[in-house]
Amino acid sequence: MIEENETNTPVPPLNLAGNFAALSGELMAELAEVAASGYYVLGPKVAAFEAALAKYCGTRYAIGLSSGTDALLAALMALEVGPGDEVVVPTFTFFATAGVVARLGARPVFCDIEPETFNIDVRALERALTPRTKAIIPVHLYGQLADIEAVLEIANRRNIPVIEDAAQAIGAHCDINSPEASAGPAPQSGRKMAGSFACMGALSFYPTKNLGALGDAGAVLTDDSRLDEILRKLRVHGSGHTYYHDRIGGNFRIDAIQAALLTIKLKHLETWTEQRIARAARYTQLLEAAGLVPEHVRPPTVLRGRHVYHQYVIRAQRRDELAEFLKQRKIGCGVYYPLPLHLQTCFKHLGHKPGDFPVAEAAAREVLALPIYPELTEQQQRAVVEGIAKFYGQGA
Ligand SMILES: *Cc1c(COP(=O)(O)O)cnc(C)c1O
Repeated sequence: MIEENETNTPVPPLNLAGNFAALSGELMAELAEVAASGYYVLGPKVAAFEAALAKYCGTRYAIGLSSGTDALLAALMALEVGPGDEVVVPTFTFFATAGVVARLGARPVFCDIEPETFNIDVRALERALTPRTKAIIPVHLYGQLADIEAVLEIANRRNIPVIEDAAQAIGAHCDINSPEASAGPAPQSGRKMAGSFACMGALSFYPTKNLGALGDAGAVLTDDSRLDEILRKLRVHGSGHTYYHDRIGGNFRIDAIQAALLTIKLKHLETWTEQRIARAARYTQLLEAAGLVPEHVRPPTVLRGRHVYHQYVIRAQRRDELAEFLKQRKIGCGVYYPLPLHLQTCFKHLGHKPGDFPVAEAAAREVLALPIYPELTEQQQRAVVEGIAKFYGQGA
C-alpha cells in the first residue's frame, strides 16, 4: 500500500534550529550579555520583556512566568481556586488547561466544542455552569480566537472570572463590538488581542509556540493592578518582601536569558505570523486545486478575526492511515489531540464515558496538523499536498 518515493521532499514537523540560525548573531550577543551580567532570574531583562509584551498584546501588565502551565496555575491561584470549586474548560485542548484545575484540588468541568473552530461551545458552556463555578478557561485553540465575547457576556452576567488560555494564540486578534469591554490600552482602536479580553490571559513561550523561548517560559496578561501585584508575589512563593509570605505561591519565575531572547524574537513575531498566514492560505489553495476538498479533507474554517495558525489543522477521512502514510514519506504531521480530556485515565473519577462530548470525540478522530512554520517553502507545501493526494489516490 505504501509506496517508496525517493524524490519526495522531506518536510520536518518544525524548524526551531532554522529559526534560531536566522537571528543567531543577535541572540548570541544577548546571551553573552546576560551571562556576563550575573543577573539570571527576573531583573531588568525580564522587566523590559514584560513591557514589550504588554505593549504588543495591548494590556496594562504582563507578568513573566516559568511556563504556560504555570501561567494558568498562577492565574487560578490568584483567583483562590481550590477544593469545592469548579472550573469550566473545553474537553478538546492541551492537557494543561484542565491539569492545573485538578492540581489545585478543584474540579475541571468539561465542555464540548464548536465543530468549525474546535473552540468552546458557548451554549454547552452555559449549561455547564453551577453555583460552584469559580472560573472559566476558554482556549484559543490552534491560534484562532474562541467566541470570547460570548463567553465574557455569559460570565459577566454571573460575575464569574474568565482566564483565556492564549498559549497557542499570541497575536490573534479581532475587532470588538464593545470597546467598553476592557479598559486596556489597545494597540489599535477597536482591535483586541488574544489574552487581553478577560481578566487574565495565559501565554506560553514553549519552543514550539509562535513566540518560542530556548526553553520553558510563559506569562499572564492583565489590566488589573491588583491581579498584577498578586501574580508578582505568587511567582516568588507569595512573598512581597523577601522571606515574608502573604500567600502560598510557587517558584514560577522566568529566567533573564529567556526574557532577553524573547524580547528580540517578539520584534519578528508579526512577520512570522504573516508568513504563517500566507502558508495556511497556500495549503488551502493547494488542497482545493488537488480536488481533495471536501470529500477527503476539510481545511480549517476561520470564523473570528486573525487566525495565527499555531497549527494548520485539517479534518481528514481515515486520518490515522493518512498520518502513517505521510510519516513514511517523511512529512511531519501531528495529531492534536487524539484523546479528549474527559476520557483521560487521570480523570476517570469524574465519571465520563465515550459519547459525552461527541463533537470533541469526532475531532479527536479526524484532526491532522500539517507542518506550518515561517520557513516552510512552497516546494515543501507541494510535497505535503502531493502526499495527501497520493494517499487518496488522486495524485499522479
Ligand atoms: C502549550 C500549551 C499550554 C502550556 O504551556 P507550557 O508552556 O508548555 O507549559 C497550555 N495550554 C495550551 C492550549 C497549550 O498549547
